[in-house]
Amino acid sequence: MAALYLHIPFCRRACHYCNFHFSTSLRLREEMVEALCAELALRKEECVAPLQSIYFGGGTPSLLHIGDLEQLFDAIMAHYAIDAQVEVTLEANPEDLTEAKLRQLRRLPVNRLSIGVQSFRDEDLQFLNRNHDGASAKTAILRAQAAGFDNITIDLIYGTPTLTDAAWAQNVECTLDLEVPHISAYCLTVEPRTALAHFVRQGRVPPVNDDVAARQFLWLIDQLSDAGMVHYEISNFGYEGYWSRHNTSYWLGVPYVGIGPSAHSYDGQLRCWNEAHNMRYVRALQKGQLLRKCEVLSAADRYNEYVMVRLRTVWGCRLADIEAMGAHWAAHFLKEVAPFVQCQWVEVSQGVYRLTRQGKLYADRVASELFFAE
Ligand code: SF4
Repeated sequence: MAALYLHIPFCRRACHYCNFHFSTSLRLREEMVEALCAELALRKEECVAPLQSIYFGGGTPSLLHIGDLEQLFDAIMAHYAIDAQVEVTLEANPEDLTEAKLRQLRRLPVNRLSIGVQSFRDEDLQFLNRNHDGASAKTAILRAQAAGFDNITIDLIYGTPTLTDAAWAQNVECTLDLEVPHISAYCLTVEPRTALAHFVRQGRVPPVNDDVAARQFLWLIDQLSDAGMVHYEISNFGYEGYWSRHNTSYWLGVPYVGIGPSAHSYDGQLRCWNEAHNMRYVRALQKGQLLRKCEVLSAADRYNEYVMVRLRTVWGCRLADIEAMGAHWAAHFLKEVAPFVQCQWVEVSQGVYRLTRQGKLYADRVASELFFAE
């Protein structure tokens, strides 16, 4: 099994909270597509198993022209073996999902859409500086369903200063009414070097209120569980059969190849990341070169990574997995996890350690206490 990620580093507008790599200038679009195809060809040997998932992320992949996507699919098909059941996700912003574009996307191998809704309310969307309004978010989902896309996930953001508890309930109800089978919900985070961080520093907007965010998160867990969705990763909820195969690969340690500026790759031992610079990325690929850095993960890195990622999932941390890494890792884990079991932030069942409902509020804190510092 293997997974392929393609980073499309362009957006029409910079959302105030975003710290992903992207440019709002589309000048390099065609050269970028050529460069992505060149990287796909150059790195084909890295992918030894058939691809079980392909993920177009960004940035905003939906702003690519259909011809660009066809070019990328041709390069993927030419160089990679693909599983018959492959999941192919395209991240899309509501403003791009016109009826014509959706019809064209249906003719491509794309079988899952990840729509960047964030909120159905104009007030929140304006605060976040999104490029769409609430009505167009709804229309995009309805259009995608009418075009035959059944596997749809949407992103939602909670903890936004403009979002009251009642408004959050309204957003979640709207999602359930639209029969969207998968939701990724993120707490608004004030990342350094973003416009939002600048506004908070200047006092123009309030910082995220942790108590409100925690309340909205717990409310979401209960509401979606009542609706029959499984909370299978800290930010991800879905009905059975609709869980993201691509992200599950990351969480379960399946090797993945990341193509495009800023994209990361992992083969079980080695982690690499491409330089996050569009022009330099394109120029290097034009010369047949890759601009990337790599590091071999130490045993401690692999243990820490396992704990950090698995603790956030429904699969939890299996003691047997940690013992297989070495008895000293298991001893360290058992010693550090004990206080969290005691205070009921972590529960144990048949050798698997999982966060409790309350513990999910402190996932990062618990993971960092379990880490091994070299
Ligand atoms: S559309 Fe997505 S990637 Fe682009 S700026 Fe907004 S949040 Fe970031």
